[in-house]
Amino acid sequence: MTMNTFEVPQDVLVDVRNVKKYFPIKGGILKRTIGHLKAVDDISFHILKGETLGIVGESGSGKSTLGRVILRLLDPTAGSIYFNGTDISYLNRKEIRPHRRDMQIVFQDSFASLNSKMSVAELVEEPLLVQTKLSKSERREAAVEIIEKVGLRADDRLKYPHEFSGGQRQRISIARALITRPKFVICDEPVSALDVSIQAQVLNLMKDLQDDLGLTYLFIAHDLSVVKHISNRVAVMYLGRIVEIADKKSLYDNAYHPYTQALLTSIPVIDNNSDATPRRTKIKLTGDLPSPADPPSGCTFRTRCPLAHDRCSIERPELKEKDNGHVVACHLYT
Ligand code: SF4
Repeated sequence: MTMNTFEVPQDVLVDVRNVKKYFPIKGGILKRTIGHLKAVDDISFHILKGETLGIVGESGSGKSTLGRVILRLLDPTAGSIYFNGTDISYLNRKEIRPHRRDMQIVFQDSFASLNSKMSVAELVEEPLLVQTKLSKSERREAAVEIIEKVGLRADDRLKYPHEFSGGQRQRISIARALITRPKFVICDEPVSALDVSIQAQVLNLMKDLQDDLGLTYLFIAHDLSVVKHISNRVAVMYLGRIVEIADKKSLYDNAYHPYTQALLTSIPVIDNNSDATPRRTKIKLTGDLPSPADPPSGCTFRTRCPLAHDRCSIERPELKEKDNGHVVACHLYT
């Protein structure tokens, strides 16, 4: 077990420092490691207590892997994760157990994440059974309370997941995540599979629960409108790295990184107005995300960036503060 001695400010709940997650690629008859898929590649950020940090990026950008590493559902390859002041990066299973009830996750796919053979009561009470010593009646009382808090009826606990709509199933997932009264919840695309009309209801519920229970969220999404609704700050991920991070208003009003601009606009042309600064340029995102097993040299966005220049293929841009708390990794600004 490795323990670092960095000081973590008291208002920070989650502090992620230089975290990497590489998956080995095996090849040949002997199945030797012939390379690495760099799903998360040297990421640092913090989340304040009571805050929602949105993480946005295309499918394959590494955002879900990052979430699982922070919760220690996956082991980091390198770097440190502090939770509530404790370095949890390399705790073993027994050592991490006391922290589990404080850190929960809501998944996108409630069909897959909820065991169809278990009743709502069993599903919602299960985390208490595993992580606490509460009696049966105490577990039931807690389950009824949280089931009602997420907008279901107490009687619903006798039903099974298939008897509910997608939005209701996601409410069950939220109840299951919140029954241990966690401090921190990772929301991994929790509304992506829902109809737009239902998305707003579930997002409003999550916001109300956050206020009510003093929760801190890491909210993962590929949809910028969803993240905008719920986040205080937003980080944009591309191919395993954060390319821009800022408070919500600054990011949506004044995005600097061409990738963020591309995510923010649907206008399919470059704005050639000579007075326009790069940050106002409208960019259409074309082409596919390169493989994280073989990322482009220099800036990994350069193969899709219409503003790429010679330096971009040679030198990797580091995150630098552009405005107050608005940080971007792009050679256009250095
Ligand atoms: Fe585009 Fe170069 Fe900036 Fe990368 S560093 S986003 S390639 S301009």
